[in-house]
Amino acid sequence: MTDFAATRGMFDLPDGVIYLDGNSLGPLPRSAPGRMDGVMVEEWGKLLITGWNKAGWMARSVALGDRIARLIGAEPGHVVVGDTLSIKVYQALAAALEMNPDRKVILSDTGNFPSDLYIAEGLIGSLKQGHELRTVAPEDVEAAITDEVAVLMITEVDYGTGRLHDMKALTEKAHAHGVVTVWDLAHTAGATEVKLAACNADFAVGCTYKYLNGGPGSPAFIYVAPRHADTARPALAGWLGHDAPFAFEQTYRPHAGIERMRVGTPPVLAMAALDAALDIWDGVDMAALRRRSVELTSLFIDEVEAACPMLTLASPRAADRRGSQVSFRFADGYAAMQALIARGVIGDFRAPDIMRFGFAPLYIDEGDVRQAVAILSDVMGNRLWDRPEYKTRAAVT
Ligand SMILES: *Cc1c(COP(=O)(O)O)cnc(C)c1O
Repeated sequence: MTDFAATRGMFDLPDGVIYLDGNSLGPLPRSAPGRMDGVMVEEWGKLLITGWNKAGWMARSVALGDRIARLIGAEPGHVVVGDTLSIKVYQALAAALEMNPDRKVILSDTGNFPSDLYIAEGLIGSLKQGHELRTVAPEDVEAAITDEVAVLMITEVDYGTGRLHDMKALTEKAHAHGVVTVWDLAHTAGATEVKLAACNADFAVGCTYKYLNGGPGSPAFIYVAPRHADTARPALAGWLGHDAPFAFEQTYRPHAGIERMRVGTPPVLAMAALDAALDIWDGVDMAALRRRSVELTSLFIDEVEAACPMLTLASPRAADRRGSQVSFRFADGYAAMQALIARGVIGDFRAPDIMRFGFAPLYIDEGDVRQAVAILSDVMGNRLWDRPEYKTRAAVT
């Protein structure tokens, strides 16, 4: 059984804050500053260049990938960390497209995160082979999987609404039609119980700064199914994905397995914070996390609907169709969120009218949910958001 009171104590959360934005940026693990300090002073400072070998920096991308693998139901040895999620989407999509050279359609949905769609457009432009990005409404994805589709590129949980796709069913249908799958786990890794191997997923990518709490800009991860690991061609053929980086050969030869998806020098300092964050995950049972997340999001929906009739639920009501976030629509949602943040309840806003609240069982409990709803109810019921200072939009919403 996972002790969620204990995991809560492992985070350094400011007093007076109820943090419902771990879906955008997880909070600081208490052990992270010390871990980073150690890597800087003891490793970088004292070992200098020898840190790559002596402190294991070069092997860390794979070691961290293995720690993430358990959290997403992947086979050990088939996940590697590095770069940003947008780059990992590019790599996975490029490799997946090459596996279906006679087909030209990339199927995604209109709820996908823009970066994933932009990356697909950019790749299509570079390939110049007549590929097409076809986006359908999330509920129409299953019906749109046909023999024409090369790759199904889906973000499992919709960043706006929290809608959860059925990975098993969609992957099964995709495979029945010869379609290769790319799953983006940005809002599922650390938020739900992901079973990549059991679902037979082909490629998956995700970031570590959201629910995994690796810190702002912490590196992304990529998964390649074992059956493709030695054949998938890395489109970004960097030296660290080479079979022998320090042979400095003139020609690229991909490394065996997942390491071919490495590109260049890994962010050792950022990986230190991620390593500290993953220590917390070592004690977490993902099925227990999912149960707890469902309890928290269900309680939030029930309480908000009872207290704030002016808010409209944008997330699926059925818990099994929902990730670990809850979204409500409100025309003045930006101002309402600023008023909430001013009162210590931190969520965020996504245009045009979505107020997002993320629930991370590692550090949020029922008491937080009830207190957040009490403050939200005050802000909404008394129109506390209706002030000019809450209406000026910042660069990051
Ligand atoms: C958060 C998120 C991203 C962000 O990509 P970065 O390269 O890390 O900035 C991309 N895709 C999805 C689906 C996301 O949720």
